[in-house]
Amino acid sequence: MNQASSRATSGEPHHVIIIGGGAGGLELAAKLGRKHGPKHVTLVDSRPIHIWKPSLHEAAAGTLDIYQEGLSYLMLANLCGFTFTLGEVQAVDRERRCITVAEVQDPQGDVVLPQRELQYDTLVMALGSVSNFFNTPGAAEHAVTLDTTESAEAFRLTMLKAMVQVDNAKVQNPSAELNVVIVGGGATGVELAVELHEAGGMVAAYGLQNFRADRDLIITLVEGAPRILSALPEKISNAAHTRLTELGIRVETDCRVAEVTADHVRTADGREFAAGLCMWAAGIQGLPLMATLDMPVNRIGQLIVNGQLESPDPNILALGDCSAVPTGEEGRTVPARAQAAHQEASYLVRKLTARIRKTPEPTEPYVYRDHGSLVSLGQDTGVGSLMGKLAGRGLFVSGTLARLMYMSLHLMHHHAVLGIWRTGTLALARLLLRRTHPRVKLH
Ligand SMILES: Cc1cc2nc3c(=O)[nH]c(=O)nc-3n(C[C@H](O)[C@H](O)[C@H](O)COP(=O)(O)OP(=O)(O)OC[C@H]3O[C@@H](n4cnc5c(N)ncnc54)[C@H](O)[C@@H]3O)c2cc1C
Repeated sequence: MNQASSRATSGEPHHVIIIGGGAGGLELAAKLGRKHGPKHVTLVDSRPIHIWKPSLHEAAAGTLDIYQEGLSYLMLANLCGFTFTLGEVQAVDRERRCITVAEVQDPQGDVVLPQRELQYDTLVMALGSVSNFFNTPGAAEHAVTLDTTESAEAFRLTMLKAMVQVDNAKVQNPSAELNVVIVGGGATGVELAVELHEAGGMVAAYGLQNFRADRDLIITLVEGAPRILSALPEKISNAAHTRLTELGIRVETDCRVAEVTADHVRTADGREFAAGLCMWAAGIQGLPLMATLDMPVNRIGQLIVNGQLESPDPNILALGDCSAVPTGEEGRTVPARAQAAHQEASYLVRKLTARIRKTPEPTEPYVYRDHGSLVSLGQDTGVGSLMGKLAGRGLFVSGTLARLMYMSLHLMHHHAVLGIWRTGTLALARLLLRRTHPRVKLH
């Protein structure tokens, strides 16, 4: 009898391990933890602090401070009743139903936590995704991504340094400028372009003598499709395009990137853009761990699951960006979005509750409901479409209303994790802090 079957027959509590405490995994851990407690639910994440991934463009621009924004997983575990284990999951042994969590070192290289093995009855893969460079030469070496909090913070510091350098260089060379190229005109690229434009203006206003963002910060958004936000309705694309152009952001569509170098981005049709900084926001792929499970993955490395979010191994489920979930339409899968990860987490609460209570599992499949898309176009405005009973097939929203709705999505995530009172307190505290902190992080 192997360890796995001996657990099942020994009457031990059914143990769910969730790998990845992101938009979907953390909500699942919090909801299950509140229902069943820490003996049944363990969350593993490679980082000690949670930041909602859709806010990483604000972290990269410095309009959101990761040290203020981050929620400690240990605090959340205590609050919501799950167990938290810190460390990167390196391997899954399906035969023995256990995962290997890597040792954790401090910045000096001292071991803080040893390598560990954890035993599961059900494993939920909620690892998210990383950028897909589509084998573009030079992209992995020279472009930055918004995959992690660390990469967003590294970009912020590099950009801040570059602005200060240009500010100094302008004493000798008045035509010095900072060129930023963003590859990918989806929601991430569009939101980042506007956020960087606004943050550049704020940094300059806080103390750069010679640097003027509207003149010296050249932001170019490069998109391979004929229009930006090509996955969204044309009306939204057009509104966003107009706004970007008004702000002085260059938008290049129908433009495929062929190479990224240390200071340029070259396109397949022979164009070349100066790029002191290049941000890659042009597609996602599954993490390498998904390919080690010895189960089918799709062409971008997402684990293929059925409508019940089950992999071919019934003890392994998956949600969010790391999974390819069928929509029911031939060949189509649920888009990699926070709203899908949120819905899938809610769906799995019932399924996993049944497993924990050893009652029959619900049989109806998960159905993705598109509630629309909202794109932030800076601190005061946004654009998007809403779907649903009231909005019908798509209600176009723009301006401050769209921006407020966009902000409410972040609060809804906090609400799912922290509950209403703590979310309210947090929102109020952040509002008050704005009176004593600069609007953009300056150090
Ligand atoms: C800048 C930006 C803006 C976006 N805006 C929107 C938006 O407006 N609306 C929208 O719907 N979607 C948006 N998205 C997409 C959205 O962020 C993702 O679809 C969503 O976060 C996916 O959730 P997830 O739970 O699958 O993974 P994630 O939220 O990415 O979480 C994955 C977690 O897994 C952990 N992890 C990874 N590997 C390991 C490992 N080996 N061991 C342990 N832990 C691991 C990570 O640390 C992370 O905490 C945006 C994305 C970006 C980058």
